[in-house]
Amino acid sequence: MSQKIGFIGLGIMGQPMAANIHTRGYELMVFNRTKDKAKELAGKGVLVAETPAELVEWADIIILMLTGPEAIDDVLYSENGILPANPSEKIIINMSTVSPSYTLNLKNCLAPNSITLIDAPVSGSKKPAIDGSLIILTGGPKQAIDDLEPLFLSMGRKVVYCGKTGQGSAMKMTVNLLLAVMMEGLCESLNLAQQLNLDKDLLLDSILAGPLGCGLFQLKSGMLKQNDFPVQFPLKHMAKDLRFVLQTADEAGAAVPAAHAVFQLFRQGVGLGNGDLDFAAVKKTLEALNDKQNM
Ligand code: NAP
Repeated sequence: MSQKIGFIGLGIMGQPMAANIHTRGYELMVFNRTKDKAKELAGKGVLVAETPAELVEWADIIILMLTGPEAIDDVLYSENGILPANPSEKIIINMSTVSPSYTLNLKNCLAPNSITLIDAPVSGSKKPAIDGSLIILTGGPKQAIDDLEPLFLSMGRKVVYCGKTGQGSAMKMTVNLLLAVMMEGLCESLNLAQQLNLDKDLLLDSILAGPLGCGLFQLKSGMLKQNDFPVQFPLKHMAKDLRFVLQTADEAGAAVPAAHAVFQLFRQGVGLGNGDLDFAAVKKTLEALNDKQNM
């Protein structure tokens, strides 16, 4: 508890995660590229750094919750970034979703500075981030992860030890593959129902009442009924994650035919201008592909 925590990246997920760390009584300093997003936490007494370098000089443990590799590289290597501030002997926890091979590269880049890297991506979206009920998928030195468990449990309800560095990222690839395929499957079923002039609310209620009525479908049913997709997990991030899934599967020699198909649909969703909507808006992509002559 005496350790000072630095948190970089106050987006949809990072903001409530940082707030929960603060609520649990940790000393906390945050940094976000767009300064306005730190205002609410500053109002609660959280320290706000002007640069990643300032945060690194203060903190013992640095948490990253950023879009992906490009953002992490910017924060690490830019003029006022993490590495020029010489964070030797510190711990960096990357909670952003990246590929396992990116994580392993990062580990090698940080090793000469004696920095311990832990990959700890999360399963769960905006609401679990607010409620502090995320599932945290960790990879790295077991003892360090055990020591960090109280910090992880300030943001989540379960810490899963997946294995050595990179295995947390690998686990996240498998989870998001399933998430994408399930979401697309539900939307495809709804799209067919609409084309058959079935009541989509009736279909959703029937699915939710039976063995297919899982938490994900329950969570997204409101959006699908209203045809309104306020962002929880941005569609553009799912397209990004599926790119990593395909790369990872290719490196591992794993067959992922459904992942190839859904990647195309999420990418087209970004092309259609739906990238900042929730990823359930993949339904709009399917509607755009319908044969209009049959409508
Ligand atoms: P987000 O709302 O888009 O936030 C992204 C964060 O990254 C923002 O703080 C943004 O800063 C920062 N950023 C982006 N590019 C940057 C750059 N070049 N330099 C510095 N900072 C940069 O994303 P999110 O939904 O919180 O997701 C964060 C991570 O968690 C992603 O890897 C995502 O895949 C993963 N994830 C998300 C969810 C979800 O439901 N949303 C669930 C599980 C995992 P600005 O504010 O300045 O743009």
